[in-house]
Amino acid sequence: MYRTHTCGELRPAHAGQTVTLAGWVHRQRDHGGITFLDLRDRYGLVQIVADPANPQAAKAQDARSEWVLQVTGVVRLRPEGAENPNLATGQIEVEALQVEVLNPAKPLPFIINKDEDTEEAVRLKYRYLDLRRERMQNNIILRHKVVQFIREYLNSRGFLDIETPLLFKTTPEGARDYLVPSRLQPGMFYALPQSPQQLKQLLMVAGFDKYYQIARCLRDEDLRGDRQPEFTQLDLEMSFVQRDEILALVEDLFTQMVKEILPHKRLLASPWLRLSHAEAVERYGNDKPDLRFGMELYTLNNLFAQTDFQVFRAVIESGGVIKCIVAPGCADYTRKQVDELTTFAKEQGAKGLATLALTADGMKGTAQKFIKPEEVQAIQTLTGANTGDLVLFIADSRAVANKTLSALRLLMRDRLNLADPNTLAFAWVLDFPMFEYNEEDKKWDAAHHPFTMPKMEDLPKFETDPSQILSDAYDMVLNGYETASGSIRIHRSDIQQKVFELIGLKEEEIQAKFGHLIEAFQYGAPPHGGMAPGIDRLVMLFADEPNIREVIAFPKNQAGRDLMADAPSPASERQLRDLQIKLDLRLTEKKDEA
Ligand code: ASP
Repeated sequence: MYRTHTCGELRPAHAGQTVTLAGWVHRQRDHGGITFLDLRDRYGLVQIVADPANPQAAKAQDARSEWVLQVTGVVRLRPEGAENPNLATGQIEVEALQVEVLNPAKPLPFIINKDEDTEEAVRLKYRYLDLRRERMQNNIILRHKVVQFIREYLNSRGFLDIETPLLFKTTPEGARDYLVPSRLQPGMFYALPQSPQQLKQLLMVAGFDKYYQIARCLRDEDLRGDRQPEFTQLDLEMSFVQRDEILALVEDLFTQMVKEILPHKRLLASPWLRLSHAEAVERYGNDKPDLRFGMELYTLNNLFAQTDFQVFRAVIESGGVIKCIVAPGCADYTRKQVDELTTFAKEQGAKGLATLALTADGMKGTAQKFIKPEEVQAIQTLTGANTGDLVLFIADSRAVANKTLSALRLLMRDRLNLADPNTLAFAWVLDFPMFEYNEEDKKWDAAHHPFTMPKMEDLPKFETDPSQILSDAYDMVLNGYETASGSIRIHRSDIQQKVFELIGLKEEEIQAKFGHLIEAFQYGAPPHGGMAPGIDRLVMLFADEPNIREVIAFPKNQAGRDLMADAPSPASERQLRDLQIKLDLRLTEKKDEA
């Protein structure tokens, strides 16, 4: 046996017992010839004391950081005053009788026992060492708990865990597909699933009624902090359900989960808040609002109906909006600070930023000259702005005003610490538009995905104004992140056909890509719906991490590379020949030169 106990489990009750432990040298020091070392494993740390007078334990002296040791010794209470209250095993120590080196270690590229700033590229190259750190161990263990909670919760409610293929065909979630060349059918490609969307719908046609899967999704997108080329969703689908039944299930699942595994976190509201998509965008400027703090957006078009301010007047007349937010306590911002905010607003696409500081001795700011006292009064009444506050105005198209003020709102959140990190503001955003216009390609795209059910009462608008069609899609948001999307699905092939046509798919294309789905819907598809919470983002937020890479054991870097294994990497001549693929890298080279 390598060990009788783990390093984290010994307590005063074990005193007097002879135990065998195995683990890594976390720290080693000499005190008057006696060697003290902290032995570490997943379960914790324990102090080992080795007296060089005992030749069997002498090897402890040579041991260096991260060597793997096996130690047999006697558990004893620490001398009075030497206890460590910060350590679970801090009441005891193990007096070494015998020390074996199971494996020495080279000097490491970084220190494990200090959470110092190691460059991310080095951390990712030596991910297996980075993962030894306490923070990372905790994150991966939390992730495990989240996934196991989900499984137990859904299993006990009759859900079936069903696997779906990775080698499949395109399922459009709005990203680029990863393709896998087929050797047996040269020139043909599988697409890795952007989600199991089609397959879970087909499982409903197959009668499984309640499905879930902890599913890997693959999307070839540009990466950001909360995106990876492959990520994990709790994918779920139910038959004969309406929207609110799905929301209630998922809401209860996460509410119970927080209670059980995140007792230090507080839910902002129970039941969760619900907002329509239109309301979220109007009040917060985006469809994934951080609801832990106020600072809402206000539209001032009515209030400025009689304005003399030329800039505002022109924007209103051209169909734009004047919107504002109030930054609490920022009336004393210096010229330089206001200029910084203006630059920030311009980076978001706004033409400019107007400000009004409500100081004790009157008003200041770029808008002061142009705003009448009664307008200031009305703004205060509408927004609740007080003396000491700074009002930030954007006059622009609705989209630009929302985008800019939403970004300013989050900037001020971080500057003024307006959001409590231990509050979880789960909320539902409902009634999304079904389509959005793609200016670049001059066509309609499905806002969620094309399998989403439009609101029945909006069906006639397919012929008149697709922008006004709402859908039965919903998002779960948390602290400013979209953490799940879902919808009631189309189960009628005629409606599915209409949607495909509107997003510009030609008949042959529909048949080639989704013929199997349209056909399946003709053999008795039950009404169904579902959703897919993103595990990585949720665990990131639960663990207070800034980035999903911190909660994924082996993530890619921002350029989509695995720095540890050095992937992607070239294929051999032989592999390419088998696949009948010839590389033509001229295109890439040209791009690199440009
Ligand atoms: N497949 C969707 C997604 O990945 C989720 C869903 O509609 O269930 O966002």
